[in-house]
Amino acid sequence: VAAELATLKELPAITQDGVRMPLWVNTGLIADVARSLEKGAEGIGLYRTEIPFMVRDFFPSEHEQTQIYRKQLEAFAPLPVTMRTLDIGGDKALPYFPIQEENPFLGWRGIRVTLDHPEIFLVQIRAMLRANEGLGNLRIMLPMVTSVHEVDEAKRLLDRALAELQDEGYVVERPLVGVMIEVPAAVYQARLFAQRVDFISVGSNDLTQYLLAVDRNNPRVAGLYMAYHPAVLKALEYISREAHKEGVQVSICGEMAAEPGGALLLMAMGYDVLSMNATNLPGIKSAIRGVTMAQAEALLAQVSRMDDADKIQALMSDTIQTLG
Ligand code: PEP
Ligand code: MG
Repeated sequence: VAAELATLKELPAITQDGVRMPLWVNTGLIADVARSLEKGAEGIGLYRTEIPFMVRDFFPSEHEQTQIYRKQLEAFAPLPVTMRTLDIGGDKALPYFPIQEENPFLGWRGIRVTLDHPEIFLVQIRAMLRANEGLGNLRIMLPMVTSVHEVDEAKRLLDRALAELQDEGYVVERPLVGVMIEVPAAVYQARLFAQRVDFISVGSNDLTQYLLAVDRNNPRVAGLYMAYHPAVLKALEYISREAHKEGVQVSICGEMAAEPGGALLLMAMGYDVLSMNATNLPGIKSAIRGVTMAQAEALLAQVSRMDDADKIQALMSDTIQTLG
């Protein structure tokens, strides 16, 4: 099986009736990059920039960040690299920037922190833009967005960083900008976001947690954390439909894309890109190569008529086993 998966690297993720599905990876450290290319990744759908921040004792400087980001961009160029702006708070803590809250998942997280600290945000954006000089494969993605004014504010800061750098003599270009949909409020504004950005990427880990009100890290309620909950599936389908009305790319970078059943459903929903951890990529590719789009669509139609997450989960397991 290992040898079979290794030869898969050169083959595209394409269904038996010819539908091509780009498979990208989620990364954090530079060590992830070589592994991802080895598995045949066609881009980075989520580079978690907080990870290099977490392994340090203080905020990395603009120079240091530029070097870190440059390595990711260079290793993948000309393939796209989606850098998420700092996503701290909730389950992600920086030792040198403590946040004490009763309810961290409903608190100061992601874009909320960086818009309150534009000096942190601007340094990071400047570093990304500088790292992209002469390469042009950078995409910037905003985490934990709830309202459109957050996107407008972030884009205003991006404009400022671009203008400053140009004044300083850097040859920087405007990257594609996207938002993550992780908060239920954002689901219902998918079309409004799509009017403001170049791409949308669903963070299904947080979105599932918030839709079901189940802490993603609490073992006591782990059984209630169900990626195949009908409400989660309906939300995912809605996002794809709404965002496509504006013609923007819709991708997913949560763990759901790393499950063969999840990947097939997302493909049937019209997702344009699936981004996942490198380890699972070959298995997902082989699942996609084993079906027709018509089969994936029939599976989605069947699942859409079901009302119970456990039954859907059971159907998905059976289907994946039958497909081998
Ligand atoms: C997500 O929430 O699905 C996601 C991709 O981001 P993270 O897991 O880093 O919160
Ligand atoms: Mg998240």
